[in-house]
Amino acid sequence: RRRSNSKNAHSFLFDSTQTSIKTASFYDAYLLDPTDLGRGKFAVVRKCTEKCTGRVYAAKFLKKRRRGKDSRPEIIHEIAVLELAKPCPHIVDLYEVYETGHEIILVLEYIAGGEIFNLCVPERDEAFSENQIVRLVRQIIEGVYFLHQNNIVHLDLKPQNILLSGVDSAEDVKIVDFGLSRKLSETIALREIMGTTDYVAPEILNYEPISTSTDIWSIGVICYMLLSCEAPFVGTSVQETYLNISQLNVDFSDDSFTSVSQEAIDFIKCTLVLNPRDRATAGDCLSHPWLQQAEISHCHGSILCGIQSGQAATNYKKTKTRCDCNQ
Ligand code: ADP
Ligand code: MG
Repeated sequence: RRRSNSKNAHSFLFDSTQTSIKTASFYDAYLLDPTDLGRGKFAVVRKCTEKCTGRVYAAKFLKKRRRGKDSRPEIIHEIAVLELAKPCPHIVDLYEVYETGHEIILVLEYIAGGEIFNLCVPERDEAFSENQIVRLVRQIIEGVYFLHQNNIVHLDLKPQNILLSGVDSAEDVKIVDFGLSRKLSETIALREIMGTTDYVAPEILNYEPISTSTDIWSIGVICYMLLSCEAPFVGTSVQETYLNISQLNVDFSDDSFTSVSQEAIDFIKCTLVLNPRDRATAGDCLSHPWLQQAEISHCHGSILCGIQSGQAATNYKKTKTRCDCNQ
């Protein structure tokens, strides 16, 4: 389900990487765990152990041909975005890359706590408090803020692509899966039909220009799901879901919202706005009262620690080195 303005498609992709792509055998260097960590349409992710160090990683196996089409340029782009995002603590780290005749293998930091999707289902093991959710959402937006400052849109933000670093409630968030991400260009507008039904923004459905605001819509959907364990727009068919999105058919009157704060609802309402230009930016989100509350005492590697949220990311590197928080 993807339609792109093919003539321009490549101007939205990085075309080279700094990481050298190894042609030596991945299997000589790593022991592969038999169980999958996850599986998408064109990728399988499996746990593996580096033989010489005993360290554990996650290997993402990407097919170089998809539906008869060469997808190597897209994989090169995915690698380049991960390289660019290296300084951001809320985006998965890339360790090294291997290439075989038919696939490219990304060796990624292993993220042990699973998808935040597991917190978005009614039968979840552990219910997170709104305070804990605030903390996770702030980290997600810090990651997205970093991307947007660098003119990257993720375009596939959903609870399956946001992972938890550990297994306790003070765990951190890591954004993964840059397979649909794009770099924005000042001269041509990106219009593409892609993404995942429940999370897709109205401008994508209308084939209107995509911008950083497109990710903010998805953040609104994710917050709604974390707080209520329900998807805001889901209908009984794909058509009905799309209609719900394009009419902003969303409500907060359900029982599951009775214990949710007014600030949280107000926050979601700033993100689920039909016109992308009227939607909050990542910077606006970080200064919203809902994300200003509690738990700012220690930073947990927060990229904005030490500075006021919403301040330019040019402060980012400075701040990071200045921070002596050992949490
Ligand atoms: P796809 O493009 O196929 O969706 P993803 O990069 O999203 O590929 O990976 C698929 C799934 O694998 C994720 O939803 C997640 O559950 C798991 N996964 C991905 N990367 C990691 C990682 N670094 N550590 C642990 N699990 C991961
Ligand atoms: Mg994915």
